[in-house]
Amino acid sequence: MSAPLSLLREDLRDFAGYKSARSEALSGSVWLNANESAWANAADDAGTLRRYPDPQPPRLRAALAALYGCAPEQLLAGRGSDEGIDLLLRAFCRPGGDAIVTTPPTFGMYAVCARLHGTRVVEVGLRDTPEGFVCDFEAIARAAEQTAAKLVFLCSPGNPSGTLLPLDAIAALAQRLSERALVVVDEAYLEYAQAPSAVGLIASQPNVVVLRTLSKAHALAAARIGSTIADAALIAALQRCQAPYPLAEPCVALALRALDAGARALSEANAAACVLERERLYAALPAVRGIRQVYPSQANFLLARFERAQSAFDALLAAGVVVRDMRAAPQLGDALRISLGTAEQNARVLETLARTDAGERAA
Ligand SMILES: *Cc1c(COP(=O)(O)O)cnc(C)c1O
Repeated sequence: MSAPLSLLREDLRDFAGYKSARSEALSGSVWLNANESAWANAADDAGTLRRYPDPQPPRLRAALAALYGCAPEQLLAGRGSDEGIDLLLRAFCRPGGDAIVTTPPTFGMYAVCARLHGTRVVEVGLRDTPEGFVCDFEAIARAAEQTAAKLVFLCSPGNPSGTLLPLDAIAALAQRLSERALVVVDEAYLEYAQAPSAVGLIASQPNVVVLRTLSKAHALAAARIGSTIADAALIAALQRCQAPYPLAEPCVALALRALDAGARALSEANAAACVLERERLYAALPAVRGIRQVYPSQANFLLARFERAQSAFDALLAAGVVVRDMRAAPQLGDALRISLGTAEQNARVLETLARTDAGERAA
């Protein structure tokens, strides 16, 4: 058994999952094995939707694997990276038991999935430094060891911290936790960082798992296509825990078109434009009175602290701009997160904040 498979929930080691009509290796020209309708729906113009979809369409898997630099059998496509997070929890943590480590302030879904599963969440806060939020890898390792955590969720670049985590530190953590835990690296925003992926660590550290998504830089949030990338045996085990037909056929067709060379080039150009906007706003915001701090960001948003966050939020809202109020998040009692928009949209953010002194005299 490969090292990460020995971390699988003991009661699931011989679990075969649901045997769907699509999982049998049969061939024929008349398919009468899945109780599908023989007649197409009037709304189904192409007549392609009456059958259940392939659980992991080989063309999609190959295209995503090529995009992310792994072998197709190392990748599981699912309904957003959200599904990857949930699958990892369900496959590796006992319901009502075990633990995961998170690094708040971070993405909320790790804790939400853990809570729904009855799994304890052990928090190792990011450290707020003059250079931005940084990850305390030693504290994470100790917390994981002390609580026998099965999963460590890292987010790089972090949401909402914006911080990119060093790959050598991730590799060292994975090495130290080799027999104990999976180190999950959520790279939802990596396209905006122009930095190498943790996918390259998997060959030497098979307890590394990487999450990628088409929701952000590929602009397909509504299609719900995320990828979990890991050791091939681990991916096969995760697939046995996944729903029988996780990917809707229209979304698969769309994703395939989104991954052809032309569409990929446009997505890359758009991400590059977003990075330019980010640097422009990052340079301009600190000059706005009432803004205490703007965090450096490797993602498609900026995190900023305000003298009066409520007034800034209200002033933006009055100007029709909705940003994310982060004040309920740990360490972020005065912060808003602003996703980068088009140049015009970002200009409206700047103008509004400048006009209101970041809200001090907001109407
Ligand atoms: C947006 C986001 C995701 C994406 O989730 P999907 O389910 O793929 O849409 C994943 N992780 C983080 C940290 C995010 O901010």
